[in-house]
Amino acid sequence: MTGKGEGPAIGIDLGTTYSCAAVWQHDRVEIIPNDQGNRTTPSYVAFTDTERLIGDAAKNQVAMNPVNTVFDAKRLIGRRFSDPCVQSDTKLWPFKIIPDTADKPSIVVSFKGTEKKFAAEEISSMVLTKMKEIAEAYLGSTIRNAVITVPAYFNDSQRQATRDAGLIAGLNVLRIIVEPTAAAIAYGLDKMSNIKGNKKNVLIFDLGGGTFDVSLLTIEESYFDVKATTGDTHLGGEDFDNRMVSHFVQEFKRKHNKDISGNPRALRRLRTACERAKRTLSSAAQTSIEIDAFFEGIDFQSTITRPNFEEMNMDLFRKCIELVENCLKDSNIVKSSVHDIVLVGGSTRIPKVQQLMQEFFNGKELCKSINQDEAVAYGAAVQAAILGGAKGNEKIQDLVLVDVTPLSLGVNTEGDVMSIVIPRNTTIPTKKERGYTTSYANQAFVCFEVFEGERARATDNNLLGKVGLHGIPPAPVGVPKFNVCFDIDANGILNVSAEDEGTSQKKKITITYDKGRLSKEEIERMIKEAEKYKFEDEQHRKKVEAKIALEKYAYNIRNSLNDKKISDMLYPAEKKEVEDAIEHSLEWLQRNQLAQANEFEDNMKELEGIWNPIIAEIYQSGTRGGWDSMKDHNASYTASTSGTTGAGPRIEEVD
Ligand code: AMP
Repeated sequence: MTGKGEGPAIGIDLGTTYSCAAVWQHDRVEIIPNDQGNRTTPSYVAFTDTERLIGDAAKNQVAMNPVNTVFDAKRLIGRRFSDPCVQSDTKLWPFKIIPDTADKPSIVVSFKGTEKKFAAEEISSMVLTKMKEIAEAYLGSTIRNAVITVPAYFNDSQRQATRDAGLIAGLNVLRIIVEPTAAAIAYGLDKMSNIKGNKKNVLIFDLGGGTFDVSLLTIEESYFDVKATTGDTHLGGEDFDNRMVSHFVQEFKRKHNKDISGNPRALRRLRTACERAKRTLSSAAQTSIEIDAFFEGIDFQSTITRPNFEEMNMDLFRKCIELVENCLKDSNIVKSSVHDIVLVGGSTRIPKVQQLMQEFFNGKELCKSINQDEAVAYGAAVQAAILGGAKGNEKIQDLVLVDVTPLSLGVNTEGDVMSIVIPRNTTIPTKKERGYTTSYANQAFVCFEVFEGERARATDNNLLGKVGLHGIPPAPVGVPKFNVCFDIDANGILNVSAEDEGTSQKKKITITYDKGRLSKEEIERMIKEAEKYKFEDEQHRKKVEAKIALEKYAYNIRNSLNDKKISDMLYPAEKKEVEDAIEHSLEWLQRNQLAQANEFEDNMKELEGIWNPIIAEIYQSGTRGGWDSMKDHNASYTASTSGTTGAGPRIEEVD
C-alpha cells in the first residue's frame, strides 16, 4: 500500500458470516464501505485454479465452486477437530475438514491446481487482510493497529486464535474486545446525554450469523461495566438457515424421491435461497423458493410461511430466552431493573425473536436505534481510537470498559474435582492465586491440569493445558505447598504459572499443544505465506488488467475499422495488416488466457506498434479523413492505449 504513512487504529467486527470495519475520524465513527460500496463484507475466502478471492467476490461464486469456498472459519477457530460442534458442522459444510496431528482442524481446498491445507486462523487472517485493505483504500494510509471483536462466550483458545489471525494478517492487535461491550459503547455514545448522571442497566442481545451473546452492563457516566455475560458460540442465523435447508431437502425427497444431501452445489444453492427467504420472512408473511435445474435437471419450487419458519426454529429461539434468564441470574439484576434492551446482530430482525424478548420483559419496548449490523464495529472503532491514542476526543477519551471472564477457570484436583481459581464473570484483567498440596506421601511430581467451564467434574470441562512441577523433595502428604497463579490480561487471555514454594521451582503453562494453538514458528510461516498470497493476488490482478487492456484495445481498433469513415482513410494493405494483427491478438488471447502480465503487455505493444503509427499519421498529416469522424475515434484511441502517443487535432474538414 503506498499511502500517506500510518493511518489510525481501526475497529474490526470479524463476524461468522459478515465482517465490518470502522474508524473514528472527524469526531465520529465512520463505517468503512468496501470496494463494492457495501458496509459489511462476507467472511468468505475462495480458491480457484487461478486466484484467491475474498469477500463479495468469493461469496458471489460460491454456487460454482462450493468445495473450495470457505466460510464459517469463526466456527472453527480455536476448536479441536474432535469438538462435537466441529463434527456436526463438518457434515453441513461443502468444503473438506481433516484433523492435523494435534487434533486441530485443517481446511482442505484445491488452489491453483494443487491441494492446500489451511488452519482456521489463516482463513480468518485472509478476511482480516481484506478488511485491512478496505480500510487502507478508504483512508489512503497503511493500517497497522486494530481492535478486533469476539463473541463474549469465546473461550481462551478462541480469543488467542483470533489474535493469531490478526498477527498473520499483519495487524498489531491492540485489544480483543467482546462484541456486546462493543455494541454497548455504540449504544452508550448514542444515548450519552440520557445516561449522564444516571446509572443504567443495559441488556445487549446479540444474535448474529453464527453466535449468540447476551450481556448485562451497567453504564454510568463513561464507565461501562459488564456485570455478566453468557451465550452460545453455536447459535445464530446459519442454524436457522440449516433448519430450512433440511426442511426443503426432505420436501424434495418426498416430491421427487431424490436425495440432494450429498451434492454440495445443490446444497449451496438451496442454502443461498433459504437465507434470502429467511430475510424476506422478517417482513413478509410468506415467500417462495425457486431454483431452476436444481438437481438432475429438475426445477425446485416451493413456498414457506412465517409460522412455518418459526415453528422449525422455536427451540432455538427459546434457547436464546433461557440464556437471557441465565444472564440476569448471574448479574443479580431482576428483569424489571433492566432499563434498555439493545438488539444487535442481523438475526434480531426476526419478528418472533423480538416478540419473545418483548414478552419476556413484560412488553417493554426494545431498543433498535443502533444499526444491528454495524454496532459492534462501531464500538470497536471507538475502543481502537482510545487505545490508539486519539487525543482531544472529548466524547470518548474518558470511556472505561470493564469486561468479565465468560467461563470459570480452575484446576483438576483429587477425585476429578474442579477447583475454581477465577469464577466466571470476574472483572478482567485479573490475577488470582491459590495454594495446593500433594495428595500422597513422597509425591515427586504434580501436574496441574487447567480447565475452563462450569461443571463440578473437572474433566467434563474444557482442558486448556497442563503445567507440571518435577523433583519435589520427599515429604508427608499435605506438607509441600504449591502456589498456582492465574493471570488474565485485558484481552481475556490467560497465563498460568505454578510454583513449588519449597524449591522455588516455577513453571509457566505450556499450552501450545493441548489447546491446538499455533506455535510461534507456525505463525511466522503463515505471516510469510500471507505476504506471498498477497503478492500473488497482486500479480493476478495485474495479469487480469493486462489481459483486459489487450482485449479492449483489440476490440476498439476493430470497432474503428468497422467505422466506414476511418476505414476509408486506410490504405488497403494497411487495413489488411491491422485486421490480421487484431485477429492474431484475439486468437492468441483465446489460447493463452493464463499467460503472464508481461506476455499480454508484449502482445499489446506489438499491436500498438502497428496501429499507433497509422492513427498518428491520420491525425497529424491531415490527409486521410474527416475531423468529425476522428473525434469519436480519438476517444477510444486514447482510452484504449492508456496514454500512448496522443492525437493531434485535424484542421481540415472533409465531406
Ligand atoms: P451478523 O453476524 O450480525 O452480520 O448477522 C448476520 C446474520 O443475520 C445472517 O445469518 C443473516 O442471514 C441474518 N439476517 C440479516 N438480515 C436478516 C433479516 N432481515 N431477517 C432475518 N435474518 C437476517
